[in-house]
Amino acid sequence: DPLLRASALVRTYRGGAREYAALRDVSLTVAAGDWVAITGPSGCGKSTLLHLLGGLDRPDSGEVWLAGTRLDDRGESGRALLRRRHVGFVFQFLNLVPTMTVIGNVELPLVLQGVGRREARARSLEILEELGVGDAADAAPAELSGGQQQRVALARAVVHRPDVLLADEPTGALDSASAEVVLDLLRRRHAAGQSIVLVTHDHRVAAAADRVVTMLDGQIVDERDLTGAKERP
Ligand code: ADP
Ligand code: ADP
Repeated sequence: DPLLRASALVRTYRGGAREYAALRDVSLTVAAGDWVAITGPSGCGKSTLLHLLGGLDRPDSGEVWLAGTRLDDRGESGRALLRRRHVGFVFQFLNLVPTMTVIGNVELPLVLQGVGRREARARSLEILEELGVGDAADAAPAELSGGQQQRVALARAVVHRPDVLLADEPTGALDSASAEVVLDLLRRRHAAGQSIVLVTHDHRVAAAADRVVTMLDGQIVDERDLTGAKERP
């Protein structure tokens, strides 16, 4: 079984008389350890697809399977449980908890998994330092720049070592030096076996992936393997 499998996804947004097919028949398979970059023009359905893959939203039709379990037909709490166990998510609008400190935000997934306070703190600080924002651990998210907040959101998404990281424009607010720090972290996590699916407009980020998927008008129009000829067992 692949880690993540989406088949024939259709997602239509309805507003009054207006109907908009954000996804029309999208299928995508992500093997364990795969790194997939999704690109395409604004409005083509990238965020919608990422949300469906992570069980944040449900399709009108089609299926999403995560770690051998069907995700799309579960209710909110069932999807939240699977998400907590298998997925790290970086939202385009970050969604940091404003009333908690930076490190409090990063500790959350560990605390939800029952990891002890001391270990949760140590692991969170380690990843914040790896991303160059360790000094901001005790600050409130609002005291940080957009780029720093983006790195905190990434730290929160990977601190519990999820099977798959789903990230919506994880370098969107970063200067090129900070983007390189983020890319280095992604490369190390990938080398350690972490699956990654990210949405990006950044060519350097896309080029680091194993596979680049291009979307247009709610469909996948191109899929490119960047790993070259792979050994098959
Ligand atoms: P992308 O991430 O590629 O920019 P999105 O998945 O965010 O694309 O959006 C795809 C299309 O669906 C866009 O036309 C967008 O305006 C529309 N859309 C996204 N979310 C909603 C929503 N909640 N309600 C109505 N339309 C939406
Ligand atoms: P992205 O750049 O990731 O596509 P958007 O700005 O399209 O982000 O969407 C941000 C939020 O607004 C999302 O929750 C999306 O579902 C919602 N949204 C996007 N387009 C529309 C729309 N036309 N009508 C209602 N909600 C929308």
